[in-house]
Amino acid sequence: MNSENINELEIDDLVKGYKYNKETNEYRCLFCEKIYEDGYIYEYNEKMVSAEKRMKLHIEEEHEGVFLSLLGLEKEISGLSDIQKKLLSLLAEQKDNKEIAEEMEITTSTVRTHKFYLQKMKRQAKILLAIMEALEIEEKKDKKLKNGIEKDENLETEKIFSINSLHPFFTQYNLK
Ligand SMILES: [Zn+2]
Repeated sequence: MNSENINELEIDDLVKGYKYNKETNEYRCLFCEKIYEDGYIYEYNEKMVSAEKRMKLHIEEEHEGVFLSLLGLEKEISGLSDIQKKLLSLLAEQKDNKEIAEEMEITTSTVRTHKFYLQKMKRQAKILLAIMEALEIEEKKDKKLKNGIEKDENLETEKIFSINSLHPFFTQYNLK
């Protein structure tokens, strides 16, 4: 996984650890490029499994699961410090604040501060994602206007109108 192909991945793909390619009918591991082809049955421990199931087993077996693989990504990619990674791995082991504090040789209030900061980073990451998506929409709008394509805009307005008119509120209103 590198910075360039992360751009092409959805959060869902990252959480699963693999991506399905509709054109080639392949499941590709994000951590090592291993491929299992849909439509084939794979043998695993004397059992027959689908390509997707085989991929899930591969990720558990070869990469110790998605969580640890993502956590193992370098700072340049994840933006996480070693302390944050350590804390996250201890949280994954179901350790409470006191146990985490002991293991990391810090106070429980520092543990709480780290946890609070991670939650804050999560919220900020969500907002950043929304801003970047909104930016892409703005850029597309701008492109359309520049190209003088107004037909598409009209079509979109029509679509929104027809969806709205199907809303129960409008249907009831029409009946009265
Ligand atoms: Zn792999």
